[in-house]
Formats: sequence, structure tokens, C-alpha cells
Amino acid sequence: MSLSVLVVEDENDIRELISYNLLKEGFEVVGASTGEEALKAARREPPSLVLLDLMLPGVDGLHVCKTLKSEPPTQSIPIIMLTAKGEEADIVRGLNLGADDYVTKPFSPRVLIARVRAVLRRAETPREPPATDETGDVLWTRRLVIHMGRHEVSVDGELTEELTSTEFRVLVCLARKPGWVFTRQQILDAVHGDNYAITDRAVDVQIVGLRRKLGSAGESIQTVRGVGYRFRE
Ligand code: CA
Repeated sequence: MSLSVLVVEDENDIRELISYNLLKEGFEVVGASTGEEALKAARREPPSLVLLDLMLPGVDGLHVCKTLKSEPPTQSIPIIMLTAKGEEADIVRGLNLGADDYVTKPFSPRVLIARVRAVLRRAETPREPPATDETGDVLWTRRLVIHMGRHEVSVDGELTEELTSTEFRVLVCLARKPGWVFTRQQILDAVHGDNYAITDRAVDVQIVGLRRKLGSAGESIQTVRGVGYRFRE
């Protein structure tokens, strides 16, 4: 069964370039040049993934993202946003609306295809942590062992300085989905639930503490400028 990608892009050259490369890789492709067309196409036949340009005439990409992610038949379809440099604020809004990833223009077709495959792979195993024991109590990454029950973290087998409960939850949130970019708002929601009134800066403070306590593994918590953070070893 071949996977299908809905390519939403109003610039014909770019849409055709993307479509050509996806077809060459064996994907089925449906193109849309407006937000309205995109919604119609996704509702008619939900694709495996949506590549979504944010700057569209009329109904823009963020609105398309929000709509698809709020309607049950389409909400589990992964969305990769296509964005321009300097659109960090829109990237943050898109991620908060449920978009799965983004690629900044100009991009090479090879990078785009790799990203499509990575997001499809992740989508197959939703919420699957990298590795846990059968109780889900321990989370292993390449260098870290995060013991939920004992509230302990070790790096390369060495126990770290004790983490605060917030630092611990921030780490678990990021490390459960290696490579995913989380916005500050998403981290706050994961750590405190939706009703916690606290500023984005508080997340930055937690990250600083966390990196310090993780020592050489602290660099696994990467800053994604203007967007948020991700865990990548
Ligand atoms: Ca555009």
C-alpha cells in the first residue's frame, strides 16, 4: 500500500518540485494551491501526511492546520509545515495547534523527503517512548536512564544531582519524543496541565537547571531558536 501526501503550496514551481520528488520516492501525491482546496481534499480522502505551506492566499496554513487537527477524521494525520525564514512566531503557533514538524524554505528535496519519512515513522508509533521496561517506569535513551518511580536520572551510568520535580517532568516530556520540537507552551502544558499561569521564561529557567545537572549530557537538550526545545543525543 503506498503512502499519500497532500502537498499544499500556492507557488506552482515549489509544489511541482515537491510532488516530483515524492512521486519519485513512491508516494502518491495530491496537490492543493489554496487552503480551501486543501481542506476539501483532506476531508474527501485523508492522506497519510500533509505538507502545508503557511503563507497561502485566503485561508492560511495555520487555519488549515487548526481545522484538520480539530476534526476527528483528519486530526491524526501528521502535518509538516513549510515555512519561510523569520516565521518563528507562526511555527510556534502551528506546533501549538498540533503540527508535527516544520521545514524552513529553501530546503533540499532530500531533506524534505527524509523529514516526511521520519514523521511518518513516528506517527506509526504514537506516544511510544524510546524504550521502557514493562511497567513503563524506566525510560532509556542512548546516554540517560530516567527512573520514573525513583525520580532518578543517570548519565552514562552515573547518578546525577537530584532534579526538582519540574525539571524531571520537563526532561521526561522532551526525552519521550527524541527529535521532536516542543514549544515552551507545550512543555508547560505537559508539566503542569493547561491551567497553569506561568510565563515562557519559567521554562527557560528549568532548562538551564536541567542542563547543568545533566553535565555533558546537557547538550542533548537543544535550543531551537525562536521556537522551543528538543531532545537529541
Ligand atoms: Ca506560499
